[in-house]
Amino acid sequence: MKIHEYQAKEILRKYGVATPRGFPCFSVDEAAEAARKLGGTVWVVKAQIHAGGRGKGGGVKLARSLDEVRVHASRILGMQLKTHQTGPEGQKVRRLLVEEGANITKELYAGMVVDRGSQRVVLMASSEGGMDIEEVAAKSPEKIHKVTVDPVTGLTTRDAEDIARKAGVPEKAAAQARALLQGLYRVFDETDASLAEINPLILTGDDRVLALDAKMNFDDNALFRHPEIVAMRDLDEEDPAEIEASKYDLSYISLDGNIGCLVNGAGLAMATMDIIKLYGGEPANFLDVGGGASTEKVTEAFKIMLRNPRLKAILVNIFGGIMKCDVIAEGVVTAAREVHLKVPLVVRLEGTNVGIGKKILAESRLPIISASNMADAAQKAVGAANGK
Ligand code: GDP
Ligand code: MN
Repeated sequence: MKIHEYQAKEILRKYGVATPRGFPCFSVDEAAEAARKLGGTVWVVKAQIHAGGRGKGGGVKLARSLDEVRVHASRILGMQLKTHQTGPEGQKVRRLLVEEGANITKELYAGMVVDRGSQRVVLMASSEGGMDIEEVAAKSPEKIHKVTVDPVTGLTTRDAEDIARKAGVPEKAAAQARALLQGLYRVFDETDASLAEINPLILTGDDRVLALDAKMNFDDNALFRHPEIVAMRDLDEEDPAEIEASKYDLSYISLDGNIGCLVNGAGLAMATMDIIKLYGGEPANFLDVGGGASTEKVTEAFKIMLRNPRLKAILVNIFGGIMKCDVIAEGVVTAAREVHLKVPLVVRLEGTNVGIGKKILAESRLPIISASNMADAAQKAVGAANGK
């Protein structure tokens, strides 16, 4: 689960991570009021969306008067903000963060992720903050320093000071940087985060370190332990099809192609997408209906796929192990009738009761294209999507 920058900063502050002062705002009036409350002479108006790269896309603006705060707030609120992380259609801005302006002398980077290789949390830091860290990683990986954190000790003082120094934190700010990084580790650990990123982590004119930006993602499997984080969920930032799917316990991810996939088992679903691509097609989604898919679940899955205006064909690929082929065939037939299916439907069934399952499909009189194996199914789905 993702949260907004202002929410991440609220959490970080509780763990002693210093950030600029600021207020979330939902209107131009609120933005002006926030700036007035903050005082000072420079403010930053920041679009709050669940994607990075907002600065380059025009979603982060400096204001030198309350009138400028209003101008920027009215331009940014409601805009379709396009960044390298939003996709070509962009993301609509519905919330702002208005902060006091910071006096930046240098932009550094600090990020924490779960490293699956070492099965530990890794802290990365770099002197090259502010811009795309992906580019630094690709072009000058030696500028990214890493420490692997032992869960028994947490981030040690020595490791925190060492990596801060390597990232270019001067001696005067060393103690504060250490406390900040140790706070970052504690928040990461205690909230079951999967990512915590501060880019940029800035050095100020008066030798302080501040988290100027903040991004946090959380492990969905641990959210039951954190109702206060679940309360921060912003459904406006999530794909409506994926929200709908999660209500029915379907694992669904929207993709760019035009062939809908309905599969049982994540591995088979991945293999199905691969083979569609092998035969020149593009999957419209990843969808794993799970081991015990009921007729209701299959019907909902069809409905969710059919909301996609790009959809040209559906490929159902089921291996009946725990689930029997006749049950899934009944589900497919019921669902196809209920949704008045207009796009070609290719079905490949294999496993327990496959004979009965195929018979149910054949006797349904629905225009179902039956396939005998995965390659056949993929070729037929790609052909159907291309109008052949
Ligand atoms: P992102 O583009 O989505 O990562 O948004 P950031 O919060 O990282 O902001 C992008 C850039 O805007 C930063 O790297 C800074 O250079 C600049 N910026 C953000 N806040 C301030 C500020 O208070 N003062 C100044 N001078 N620049 C800022
Ligand atoms: Mn940033």
